[in-house]
Amino acid sequence: MFSVSRPTDAPASLARRTKYDSEDIYQAICDIFYNKCYLCETKEPHDINVEHFRAHMGNDDLKYDWNNLYFACSRCNNIKGDAYNNLLDCCNPQDNVLKAIKHLPPITPYAKTVQIVINLDSTPAKATQELLNKIYNSEHTVNKKVSGSYLRKKIFDQYNLLLTQINNYYNPVATQAEKDATIERIKLLISKEQPYSAFMNWCILEDDQLSQLLEEAIN
Ligand SMILES: [Zn+2]
Repeated sequence: MFSVSRPTDAPASLARRTKYDSEDIYQAICDIFYNKCYLCETKEPHDINVEHFRAHMGNDDLKYDWNNLYFACSRCNNIKGDAYNNLLDCCNPQDNVLKAIKHLPPITPYAKTVQIVINLDSTPAKATQELLNKIYNSEHTVNKKVSGSYLRKKIFDQYNLLLTQINNYYNPVATQAEKDATIERIKLLISKEQPYSAFMNWCILEDDQLSQLLEEAIN
């Protein structure tokens, strides 16, 4: 999960309270969330939903509340449903969602699970961990089992790009210029604009040397 900074001003059409996913809202949400699902972090997903962080259950105040609209892929929206209304909030800086939940990537392309570990003992942290486990590791339906496997493969592909750069950095015959260029590439891979950036950031956070070197870039 990655933190998001939401502008205070809502898109104009929301004030009409007729649609919560019209063009201007959709575009604003895409921009704010870097075109990434806030739950699984898939970039440019095939099916995009403007999702209600707290399920509106017919309540118009929640339905048209700018601060309640999030960018989710249809798979995550479907898994979340109306069930999780007490998650850690990626739009609230105090929740510090990156540090709150450790994401460890799959170690092989067809790994059966990824590890989602919470770093604080709170009800929202536990609820978020439970939901993310369903999203990344779910086998509760055949369809979700297949799509979960596909999702983990995509995370692995991104991890593999990072691992190549990490190996380049620690190559005993790398020159300083090569190391500097490698660090720039790692900065790119851990930036929030990239898919699965929580997993990538946690690879760096777990490395004693790179975590110090890239402290400013971890986000
Ligand atoms: Zn998703």
